[in-house]
Amino acid sequence: MKLGFIFILFFAVTQMLSVKAINFTDKDSVSIKKGDVLSKTHKKNGVQMINRFDLFLDSINSIIPDTVPFYDWITNDIHFRKFDFSKVKDTLKIVLNDSNDHYTHPFNGKITSEFGKRRWRYHYGTDIDLNTGDSVLSAFNGRIRISTYSKTYGNVIVIRHDNGLETIYAHLSKRLVKIDSIITSGTAIGLGGNTGRSYGSHLHFEVRFFDEALDPRDIISFESCKLHYDTLAISQCNFIYREELKLMNAIKYHRVRSGNTLGHIAIKYGTSITKLCRLNGISRNSILRIGQRIRVR
Ligand SMILES: [Zn+2]
Repeated sequence: MKLGFIFILFFAVTQMLSVKAINFTDKDSVSIKKGDVLSKTHKKNGVQMINRFDLFLDSINSIIPDTVPFYDWITNDIHFRKFDFSKVKDTLKIVLNDSNDHYTHPFNGKITSEFGKRRWRYHYGTDIDLNTGDSVLSAFNGRIRISTYSKTYGNVIVIRHDNGLETIYAHLSKRLVKIDSIITSGTAIGLGGNTGRSYGSHLHFEVRFFDEALDPRDIISFESCKLHYDTLAISQCNFIYREELKLMNAIKYHRVRSGNTLGHIAIKYGTSITKLCRLNGISRNSILRIGQRIRVR
């Protein structure tokens, strides 16, 4: 039942991106609200260029089943994932820089951690060194979707940009903008800090599309604080890192050696005693035998 549903959804998404996107240039098929600036979308080499995501969504709404919130405006959940966008085969081009919008570097500082694999968990953003109190700027025009405190992100702002991308700014000492505020590229949205799961003041910066994390370096040169290109082509290539994730999450065992306790094993594999007990159907007080195989993931 569930699989079938996912298949239908996947099919619908594939269809809408390959077929319906073509209709997008037809302004009649797009409902334009009063006050809307007419989109400057155009086709280049047969690929649909997107710089007004709301209009793009309007144009594809009819194919999405009513029961599936497609790209809802959710202001209380940072990660609202609706489907695995990485499976979409088409390439979408997103306009990052044109007469309506431009990029502003959120903070010019040294990169202290890259997007990618960390010892036992994945790092979905780029860390930029700063001092508590430094201003953090919005990367593009957009609207504040989240302004909250989270245990892991600390004080965090999520901005939905006009081009459909979202950027996340975490560990702030202070949030300067409220949910629903419309802001422009370069607006100070918060002050840098060390809140949440953070060791030392820094900005954790993420770029997402449909809640799928992209390596910010796919878009930005952190050395020159500029975009690589004025457009971003999103395709499965941007999500190859998921293979690495799969490997990380694959089942893994530990062979018990002399002196091993559940506590040691938990630390070694970056997990908890509770999780080890659940995975192996044992209790905290179970005695481990030398040579015993303990599942750690
Ligand atoms: Zn980080």
